[in-house]
Amino acid sequence: MSNKRDYYEVLGVAKNATADDIKKAYRKLAKESHPDLHPNDKSAEARFKEINEANEVLSDPQKRAAYDQFGMDGPPNMGGFSGFGGFEGGFGGFDTIFDQLFGGAGARTQRRNAPMRGRDIQLNLRISFEEAAFGASKSVEFQRAELCDTCKGTGGKDGAEPVTCATCQGTGQVRAGGGFMVTVRTCTACGGTGQTVKDPCTTCHGSGRVRRKRTANFTIPPGADDGQVFVMSGQGEPGQNRGPNGDLLIVLSVMPHKLFRREGTTLYLEMPISITQAALGATLEVPTLQSKVNHKIPEGTQDGALFRIRGEGIQQLHGSGRGDLVVRVKVEIPKKLSEKQKQLLREFEQESTGKEYEGRKSFLDKVKERFQV
Ligand SMILES: [Zn+2]
Ligand SMILES: [Zn+2]
Repeated sequence: MSNKRDYYEVLGVAKNATADDIKKAYRKLAKESHPDLHPNDKSAEARFKEINEANEVLSDPQKRAAYDQFGMDGPPNMGGFSGFGGFEGGFGGFDTIFDQLFGGAGARTQRRNAPMRGRDIQLNLRISFEEAAFGASKSVEFQRAELCDTCKGTGGKDGAEPVTCATCQGTGQVRAGGGFMVTVRTCTACGGTGQTVKDPCTTCHGSGRVRRKRTANFTIPPGADDGQVFVMSGQGEPGQNRGPNGDLLIVLSVMPHKLFRREGTTLYLEMPISITQAALGATLEVPTLQSKVNHKIPEGTQDGALFRIRGEGIQQLHGSGRGDLVVRVKVEIPKKLSEKQKQLLREFEQESTGKEYEGRKSFLDKVKERFQV
């Protein structure tokens, strides 16, 4: 279990805060506790990290959704939310944030070599209604860029480190012209990175990366729902300049069921019954996700009546309880009756006094009142 503070609490915002609220709160707090304003203050530094970690999760809709669903420990088997910080680059990371906060446009060009977090990879996974309800073990194949083994990601032959670009002397920019007309453009020799590879690695042709097929194995917990995002921390693409890896995000898409509909932990079922079952009462054999249960309906059950069968719904995600199955009966009027059936119904109608039909009686009473006025 994590002993971290709740991210909403860290930023001092409500659970239903808008993206804008979160951004505002983050900016204010990050400015107040920025390490530059509190030199040698370890607690300010820790607080700054905490604020940034909270922001990184809450400002990303998918991570926020995962956090709301699973809490601080993250989705099961995913290693939790630790590692989201992106501070592996030490104070380089802080400077990048400082640039974002205060719009340090000038500083940015000098930060080309700063560690950058790798890209996230998003996979969409279709699963059956039952897999979402009861959980399942899954494996998904995906492609991702990885650091080249031959050169260890440097892009140079035999792992040679890149050298400072001779064209721009490592600044990533080239100045041209003179006097009043100095133009600055991105160095084409190094693509603005400030570094070049002298003798490229033959495996990756100097990029330092190769594409690989990988398999992610994970467990869908019982009670998982459509749109749910699993975050596999650090399983995305590698970062730039030794920056941390991105994450692998798996988005669930749950296929509809032929009989059941689901809202959270509640299952809904529409069940047709006959007019005699409705009038006389009956014991219905109600299908459930796993098997079936018997349920008694009383005499005079009306069309659209709802019955709740406790504990036959969906298991609560990470909880022990189960939701209910709500059955809505649909009284079906029979068609294609035999002559005998029709005769029996005519006899039934002759026996009727009118009191059998509450709704119709009250309707007829109202009609009568109206014409007496
Ligand atoms: Zn290589
Ligand atoms: Zn250059």
